[in-house]
Amino acid sequence: MNEEGERDLKVYKCINKECKAELSMNDLDNVQGIKCPFCGGRILVKMRPKEAKRVGCE
Ligand SMILES: [Zn+2]
Repeated sequence: MNEEGERDLKVYKCINKECKAELSMNDLDNVQGIKCPFCGGRILVKMRPKEAKRVGCE
């Protein structure tokens, strides 16, 4: 099994100008809810990887 790579995929980006950290699900595991573990910023944008998978339906 090789799920490590997927877990490490950067899915969110912190919009804090002084931070701009790219966060993987692993990074978000370390914090409560969704916020930047580096600067504590709560505004993250979801990044769109080219090969985005559709999960669930709307
Ligand atoms: Zn940040």
